[in-house]
Amino acid sequence: MTRTDVVIVGSGVMGAATAYWLTRLQPDLRVTLVESDTRYEKASSSLSASSIRQQFTCPVNIRLSQYGIAFLRDAEQHLGLPDHPVALGLQEPGYLYLAQSEQTAALHTAHHIQKQAGADVALLGPEALRQRYPWLNVEDVALGSLGLSGEGWFDGPALHQAFLKKAMAQGVQRLHDRVTGMDHTTAQVTAVQLASGGTLHCGQVVNAAGPWASEVATMAGVRLPIEAARRTVFVLSCPEPLPQCPLLIDPSGWWLRPEGRFFISGAEPLHTQPGLPLEPDWAEWNNEQWASLAHRIPALAALRVERAWAGYYEMNTFDHNAVIGPHPDLRNLYFINGFSGHGMQHAAGAGLALAEWMLDGKSTTMAVDELGFERLLHNRPLRELAVIG
Ligand SMILES: Cc1cc2nc3c(=O)[nH]c(=O)nc-3n(C[C@H](O)[C@H](O)[C@H](O)COP(=O)(O)OP(=O)(O)OC[C@H]3O[C@@H](n4cnc5c(N)ncnc54)[C@H](O)[C@@H]3O)c2cc1C
Repeated sequence: MTRTDVVIVGSGVMGAATAYWLTRLQPDLRVTLVESDTRYEKASSSLSASSIRQQFTCPVNIRLSQYGIAFLRDAEQHLGLPDHPVALGLQEPGYLYLAQSEQTAALHTAHHIQKQAGADVALLGPEALRQRYPWLNVEDVALGSLGLSGEGWFDGPALHQAFLKKAMAQGVQRLHDRVTGMDHTTAQVTAVQLASGGTLHCGQVVNAAGPWASEVATMAGVRLPIEAARRTVFVLSCPEPLPQCPLLIDPSGWWLRPEGRFFISGAEPLHTQPGLPLEPDWAEWNNEQWASLAHRIPALAALRVERAWAGYYEMNTFDHNAVIGPHPDLRNLYFINGFSGHGMQHAAGAGLALAEWMLDGKSTTMAVDELGFERLLHNRPLRELAVIG
């Protein structure tokens, strides 16, 4: 193959979702996913905590989550194939943000934004929290913010695979190769160069390279402030059940949620250099962390660490938000990058918005313009304050 309509660089959940929507909206479009790691061993989409929340501080992120939860609930209808039913194991016990007294003003501000955007969230005082979660220590908690619906977790790698399979059933090609360069003028990209030696001419190019997005952007001479930011996830077992346990965010910064009969947990990293090796940072599992977990949930005093894994957040260091849409000068180069650790839940909506932008010149189902590339050029950050860990 030497020519295609659309080349998508990277086939993690973003590339796969974009390919799915493009070929669903325009079935005769020739779309080629180029993927260097078809086992997805390092892809964020394989290493995600795969949770979904409505509790963001940017309305555009709430819109993407509202679309995301509706899509997840209806995933079989969107992505099911006769020989591949879609089983995502979606559960919706909510996210619970806990605040100490000095953090309550920020929680009230976020709550106001979320209610205005139509999110189903409630603020709960310590007594209400104690009644709902008797296993939770709230002696030093002033306020909690709970998602009453539309928040929880699901099988993210299964969602990724379902997007891929459905896209390929709709005619998308996946090439096992690495994009190593781009041929471009000042106005457009004309072809991508492949590690295997070939050249793939194309009408449009999508950067869906996750934590490696800035390397791919550089091939077109574009600077993209996205870094591979390592995060470690610990798998814990607790001898006692914690009924109705939500995804809990402690005032000290760690998070924890059930995962089958285990729990998974993470915290702000100790080491923050970009591109650290994908190995768990066991130094994050220290006495202080253990004591903090056991303080909040006394049953966790008897926890066991079963194992750990590490993955990369595709961190947008400019404002912790996604970049979706075309480059202002290279008009046929598109971005779907920088989700900064909350992309799995936004993949369905982001892929749809980008596909509409590519086919019709604007996203019509939901407005995502504020996530466009222009804000980087004009130094207008759109800061998402609710970034976890
Ligand atoms: C520990 C952790 C916890 C997370 N928790 C959550 C969560 O709870 N909720 C949530 O919504 N999100 C979460 N995320 C974030 C979410 O997983 C990511 O936002 C999402 O998976 C990003 O998908 P992607 O397709 O952009 O990137 P990836 O899945 O990394 O895919 C990019 C692909 O591009 C390929 N590629 C790169 N360069 C090239 C090239 N030159 N040529 C060919 N192929 C190339 C790579 O091989 C890779 O397969 C978490 C992430 C991590 C790491």
